[in-house]
Amino acid sequence: MSQPNIPVISHHINGRAVAGRSERYGEVFNPAFGSVAAHVPLASVAEVGAAVAAAKAAYPAWSEMAPLKRARVLFKFKQLLDEHQEELAALLTREHGKVFSDALGEVARGIEVVEFACGIPNLLKGQYTEQIGGGIDNWSVRQSLGVVAGVTPFNFPMMVPCWMFPIAIACGNTFVLKPSERDPSVPVRLAELLTQAGLPDGVFNVVHGDKEAVDALLQHPDVEALSFVGSTPIAEYIYAQGTARGKRVQALGGAKNHLVVMPDADLDQAVDALIGAAYGSAGERCMAISVAVAVGKVADQLVEKLAPRVRALIIKNGMEADAEMGPLVTGVHHAKVTAYIEDGVRSGATLLVDGRGHKVAGHEQGFFIGGTLFDHVTPEMKIYKEEIFGPVLAVVRVPDFASAVELINAHEFGNGVACFTSDGGVARAFARQIKVGMVGINVPIPVPMAWHSFGGWKRSLFGDHHAYGEEGIRFYTRYKSIMQRWPDSIAKGAEFTMPVAK
Ligand code: NAD
Repeated sequence: MSQPNIPVISHHINGRAVAGRSERYGEVFNPAFGSVAAHVPLASVAEVGAAVAAAKAAYPAWSEMAPLKRARVLFKFKQLLDEHQEELAALLTREHGKVFSDALGEVARGIEVVEFACGIPNLLKGQYTEQIGGGIDNWSVRQSLGVVAGVTPFNFPMMVPCWMFPIAIACGNTFVLKPSERDPSVPVRLAELLTQAGLPDGVFNVVHGDKEAVDALLQHPDVEALSFVGSTPIAEYIYAQGTARGKRVQALGGAKNHLVVMPDADLDQAVDALIGAAYGSAGERCMAISVAVAVGKVADQLVEKLAPRVRALIIKNGMEADAEMGPLVTGVHHAKVTAYIEDGVRSGATLLVDGRGHKVAGHEQGFFIGGTLFDHVTPEMKIYKEEIFGPVLAVVRVPDFASAVELINAHEFGNGVACFTSDGGVARAFARQIKVGMVGINVPIPVPMAWHSFGGWKRSLFGDHHAYGEEGIRFYTRYKSIMQRWPDSIAKGAEFTMPVAK
């Protein structure tokens, strides 16, 4: 049971805050201080059932509402998000740890998807062909699915839910979100702002929890589709369990993103890019760069330039204005990242900058770790193969461009990748040959804009659809084709052959 002096976060079901009824609670930390900031209820099957029931009850009216009217609610929501940007970012930093300026960026990227979803009347336009035969027309439309669910990770508590629900509800679905139990306050605030924007009760619900709540969503017969973003083992589990029950599932998983530095690259630009992309948000981004692939003679110079920059990172409480990197999200995650660094040393990689034991004055209990840099990392090492999800950059040396492509294509993950070069031919060959879902040419973190779509290849995504953009519209709707003719053109008598255009 939760302690009286620690706030308890509520679910948001049917338009209002609902206290958890479960006996199980999770701890939400303020990672900069290492202290418990709140308790979060971990929903039972019955509580998840109540959220799904609310969403089911809201579906008929919401799905019948004109898309333009649904869009108007989203326009109002977007206005409220603009007004509450700083509040949301501060809440995010307090529970996640990322620096405030980065949290503001996350909020902005979430808002962009809401802006995209405001265009739903245009996005739901169907296709029409008149006179496919004598007096017959054929058209196609996309219709909503019903109750859909989202399960999201800790590292983007604002942006990743926004990849899902604005598009899902704009299409006419109703939604149950099971956000990460590690930083659940921003999703609750989003639900409150949606209610304030005039969203009918039950259209968007937030229920907190862990595996028990996720399993309840997977097993619930009224959940038509499930979007998941998180680590690969859970993504694979959710995809298998959901599709086995006939649900539509998109499950985005983990990553190991490489940045190739060609010998002709502008080295200072490449170093800036690596520092921001490897150590921003303490490496807790699915698009973080965790491997620098140094091609040919560039390696020594690259490492020489990187090491002092890693040592000079300003690591502080994310609410301090000049902080470049905050703490990791929990003590458990801190221990996991530390164990990876120890493993890298044991496996023979050269540890150039060691972030272990980093302390921040006034925050001695905080989950801080310093930037870490390994050189001479090889493909069979665990620190190369696995996702560390911390501020640890591995330099792998390869002789040429072809070896860089081969290395990356052999990795089990294929989320994001980048190539720094000044040669257009190399850039073009890279973009064509690389087996990765999101590619940056002299762009370290190529997260697509809201009207494109986000997703990886290989074991970074299970399912057929990427997230948001037009892929999101497709995921949250079913395609229907309608053909019609009227009595004056109906042929006399039964037809026993395949109809063809005459
Ligand atoms: P996680 O897989 O531990 O948790 C994600 C969600 O799944 C949470 O809501 C959690 O409650 C739930 N969950 C955890 N264990 C479960 C279980 N056994 N059964 C059912 N549900 C379970 O991920 P995380 O640590 O919160 O987030 C970090 C991971 O997410 C990293 O691997 C990162 O690469 C990945 N990620 C991927 C993308 C992407 O777009 N590909 C984006 C962001 C994060």
